[in-house]
Amino acid sequence: MPTESFTRTDRKWAAVPIKELGLTIQGTPLEPVLAEFVGELERAGVTRVRPVFHLSTEWGVVGGTVAIGIPFYLAHPELTHFHAERVGFIEGYSRADILRYLRHEMGHVVNYAYLLHEQDEWARLFGRYDQPYVEDYKPSPFSRRFVQHLPGWYAQKHPDEDWAETFAVWMTPGRDWRAEYADWPGALAKLEYCDQTMKALRDVDPPVNDAELDEDVADLAYTLDDYYKGLADGAYEFPRRLDWMLKSIFEDEGRPESHAAPPRRPASALIRQLEPELLAQVFRWTGHFPEGTRLLLRHLAERAEALHQVYPEDREPQVTVALTTLVSALAMNHVHHGSYIP
Ligand SMILES: [Zn+2]
Repeated sequence: MPTESFTRTDRKWAAVPIKELGLTIQGTPLEPVLAEFVGELERAGVTRVRPVFHLSTEWGVVGGTVAIGIPFYLAHPELTHFHAERVGFIEGYSRADILRYLRHEMGHVVNYAYLLHEQDEWARLFGRYDQPYVEDYKPSPFSRRFVQHLPGWYAQKHPDEDWAETFAVWMTPGRDWRAEYADWPGALAKLEYCDQTMKALRDVDPPVNDAELDEDVADLAYTLDDYYKGLADGAYEFPRRLDWMLKSIFEDEGRPESHAAPPRRPASALIRQLEPELLAQVFRWTGHFPEGTRLLLRHLAERAEALHQVYPEDREPQVTVALTTLVSALAMNHVHHGSYIP
């Protein structure tokens, strides 16, 4: 099936095995971005390691390889739209955002290609590479020991991510990292190491060039419907106390809290409208994953509807701030204590 045949109304393609969708990088909006990225690598002096780009289920580089997996949903605007609808969060929503992910993944490629993680200095700065990979990491926001690049304080997830984030900051064009991290000695030491290492390797061929493709789009026998079903909502228990919190932000329909006359709007509609931006920003600043925030917001929207919560339309900025702050506080609790209200 050629990619031109994706249309929004006819979604028969969602029931076709992904490998039969004919998805490729060639001829898609990804192609010029990848060309731009290769130009960035050249200007950064990273020319001996040649990453292999391919479409996969998500961003990633399998340990020991130089193949960068790019989410297949970025290969066609309709698939991106479909993913946004099903998951609510796009990793690579714009050219600049795709470049950010590429720089990060390239950090992994360089690490594996040159076996940097086997160096004592690497382990001293970033930690042990063989340390367990924990999905639910507990980041300290604004820690001066880590650079900031991807959202969610991602460098704090694992030494390998710390390195990848450091490399990404180092190679970002126009970024004056020495000035930016002058007051953050821990992060700066990692950047200086990266700078020295990459300069020393400028003309060195890497010992590892393995480009085995993991979960390549051409091997995916399941359909998009199956794929998204697999990512569907987990079972979450939400505390009843959240009802009271909603009531402290909004007001009961028909029982105005002020005599002002502006029309009232349903709180549930506002919560749903804010969802995409809240998922992204809460992840960026707290490290709470968008999947979790999405379930929380859907629960809050359902409860606001059941409780007939409304707000005066001229107070939308105030209730937006209140809701955002509530969700951020709940998310921070979840990151550090494993539940919204421990
Ligand atoms: Zn990574």
